[in-house]
Order: sequence, then C-alpha cells, then structure tokens
Amino acid sequence: MPPTTPFPVFRFAPSPNGYLHLGHAYSAYQGAEAAAREGGRFLLRIEDIDVGRCREDYVDAIYEDMAWLGLSWERPVLRQSARFALYEDALKTLRGLGVVYPCFATRKEIIAAIEEMGVALERWPRDPDGALVYPGLYKDLPPRELSRLMWEGTSYAWRLDMEKAKALAEERTGGPLTFLEEGAGPKGETGRLPIEPELYGDVVVARKDVPTSYHVAVTIDDAAQGVTHITRGQDLFYMTHVHRVLQVLLGLPEPVYRHHPLIRDETGRRLSKTAADMGIRELRAMGKTPDDIRRMTGLEPAL
Ligand code: GLU
Repeated sequence: MPPTTPFPVFRFAPSPNGYLHLGHAYSAYQGAEAAAREGGRFLLRIEDIDVGRCREDYVDAIYEDMAWLGLSWERPVLRQSARFALYEDALKTLRGLGVVYPCFATRKEIIAAIEEMGVALERWPRDPDGALVYPGLYKDLPPRELSRLMWEGTSYAWRLDMEKAKALAEERTGGPLTFLEEGAGPKGETGRLPIEPELYGDVVVARKDVPTSYHVAVTIDDAAQGVTHITRGQDLFYMTHVHRVLQVLLGLPEPVYRHHPLIRDETGRRLSKTAADMGIRELRAMGKTPDDIRRMTGLEPAL
C-alpha cells in the first residue's frame, strides 16, 4: 500500500522540446490545485534528457508561461539533464539484478525477425503506444558474441527483460503487483489495478549514448523528490505498469496516480507541441487571459 502522507507532493514534469499548450496548462493546474486543496507541495521538473530535442529557450518559455498562468512552484527546479550519473547508477543496479540485456537490433532487423516467424506485421502485438512489442532478438546472446558486438562498437540499447523483471519484482513484494489509480485510465480504469507490463514487453531503459530513458528517469526522480501523487495525462497511463516494476526493483516507494483526460482540439485530435493555435503563447498574443485558458480547458475561473 502506498503510505498516507500528511504532506502530499505533486508535480508537473514537462519536456522542453516545444512550447506549452492548453493540455500542459490543464495538467499543471491539476497538480498545483490538488496541492493547494490538499495542503501539499507543488514541484516543477524539467525533463530534458533528450538533449537533441530539448532547448534552453523552451525551458525559459515554460517558466514564463507558467508564471503568466498564475502558477507558482518550488525552487530550485530539478533538471534531468544534470542527473545522468544517478540514472546510470540505477541502470547498474538493474544490470546487477540481471534484468536488462544489451540489444543491438535495428528497426529493420526487428521487422525482418517478425516476418521470418511467418507473422504478418499487422498481426504482431503492439504496445499501448502503437510500437511493435520487441520480439526478443539478442536476448540470449552467448557471452562471446556479446563481447564481439560490444568490442566492434555496434550501437545498442539496454532492454528490460520484462518477464524476468516482473517475476523478480513480485518475488520481492511477495505477491502480484498493483498500482493505485485515483483518476482514471483511457478506458475508465480506476482504483487498485493489477500491473500488466507485458503490454509493453522488453522496453528500452537506456541507450549506448544516453544512459537512461523516460521510464528510468521519471521513476528515479519522482522518488528522489518525494512525489506522492503523480498527476499526468492519460497518454502516459499504461506506462505506469512499467514504472511500478522499476520502482520495486530499484527499492523506491510507491506513489499514487491520478491520470487526467487529455485536452483535444475541436476535431477530437490530441494537442501537440506544433498545434500553434492551442499554444499558450499564441493564445496570450491573441489577448486571452489566464481565466480564458482555464475556461478553455474546462476549469472554473480562478477565485
Ligand atoms: N515529460 C513528460 C512529457 O512532457 C511527462 C512525464 C510525466 O508526467 O510522467 O510528456
């Protein structure tokens, strides 16, 4: 059971690879207002591990837009780009547990392997985000072959052996793993839910050149910051299954989850960072006020 805490800690964790849009504003308000209502803290975390896509001007824009929205958050702000060494330690722990393996497969190889098995690509299982579930190539590579590939400098990713990882996590907790959803998943999933990380299969947890992934960094940082309540969009709901396994294997506490619906445009499309018409900066330039933004996301105007 997650511990009940007298001081709940909420967070908003955007990636600075674009400007904030209405969906982000909604998410940030959810966290900040729950904190205010429940006598807790509200943190902002900059998730900038993807150094190729994240930009400093987007970071500045996040601070500026959030302040304009009337939000306040604790300082200093934690930035993931300063924490690669910690993520690498977590990877070492996972390696020590024998639950990760280096995978040298290219996308082309993955597709070829599936076709070789005589399965049409359209029928191969996909994860909740639409990616092909990894077919397990390179999983049981003989040590000699493994050293050869590493020696040759072939590019690789570290994948979590999900079956092994889940089994070990359940052995540690002494029973089937669950998580507590106080909001709802895309299909209305709520309450104490069993985990099904096999939905994702052997996910990538680090790359040769980037020693981490969203899954590892978010798990480590939520724990490091003492986050007790994770408010975030339903697009990340199913990833919770993976995060729970990592939390147990890395000896981290279990937070409570509150996934919220996504803000969509009039055509029902999910907002993206390129949806300029829904960008906070554009709306502000059009003369909208923070209360207009609240209304547009379905929230009551601020008191
Ligand atoms: N950094 C992620 C994003 O911008 C959100 C992570 C999370 O809330 O867990 O989509």
